[in-house]
Amino acid sequence: MGRYEGRVAVVTGAGRGIGFGIAARLAEEGASVAVVDVDEAAAAEAAGRLPVGEGAKAVGIGADVSEAEAVGAAIGRAVEELGGLHVLVNNAGITRDNLLHKMTEDDWDLVMGVHLRGAFLMARAAQRHFVAQRYGRILTLSSTAALGSRGQVNYSTAKMGVQGFTRTLAKELGPFGVNVNAIAPGFITTEMTDGAARRLRQDIEEFRRARAEVTPVRRVGSPEDVAAAAAFLCSDEASYITGQTLYVDGGARL
Ligand code: NAP
Repeated sequence: MGRYEGRVAVVTGAGRGIGFGIAARLAEEGASVAVVDVDEAAAAEAAGRLPVGEGAKAVGIGADVSEAEAVGAAIGRAVEELGGLHVLVNNAGITRDNLLHKMTEDDWDLVMGVHLRGAFLMARAAQRHFVAQRYGRILTLSSTAALGSRGQVNYSTAKMGVQGFTRTLAKELGPFGVNVNAIAPGFITTEMTDGAARRLRQDIEEFRRARAEVTPVRRVGSPEDVAAAAAFLCSDEASYITGQTLYVDGGARL
């Protein structure tokens, strides 16, 4: 019996990358999963590729996590179409990198909007269900960039914000059976890091190789590495772990 049988998970930004990896792992372990992504068609296509088990379902829902109305509707649909809600993974994310003197207000606001306002709106909409049933799991993606990352003051600030968000919600929601944690990945091979290589006009393989070289375990990470940690943190085995940020970075921040 899978750890997630009978459970429903909503994973934002799960159309690809780390979010898709987490959604796939939870589905493999028996969960019904709602893939929430900006583009409904992409979300539906990704949901169709999830390895859902017998009796479980997957649905793709189009929603921008920084829009309150869309978030309310997305949570409502997930509950209605999948029969409940037990796990929320706030994974949707974007980067708008620049040094401070070149960073625009839009670059700042967009990044804060998706990572912080998005996590806040999703958690607020989900907690109603979690508190009523005295059970829930909230996991939010932070990053090693939270510790400081040149050219990413917006992203770094948002990702450290996620850690405060996590610690605070762990205190508020713990008495109601809701555990709240974060994962801070290091370099993970996805469209986000490939895009960074392209912006820096570097060969993607070379970019990954250089990062692997300065990482203690001598490799870069995969969405599956993050998904394995997420599946543990959102499971009942982790019920005495809350308010934590787990670095999944091959030792990169040591
Ligand atoms: P990715 O490949 O770029 O995927 C991000 C997904 O989020 C995309 O499907 C994107 O959809 C979606 N998304 C963006 N804005 C959204 C919004 N407003 N509402 C709903 N969905 C939205 O990125 P990733 O590398 O998998 O990153 C996933 C998470 O991990 C992010 O929070 C990121 O900051 C974090 N992280 C990544 C790394 C890494 O090395 N990759 C390291 C540390 C932390 P569209 O394509 O349609 O925009």
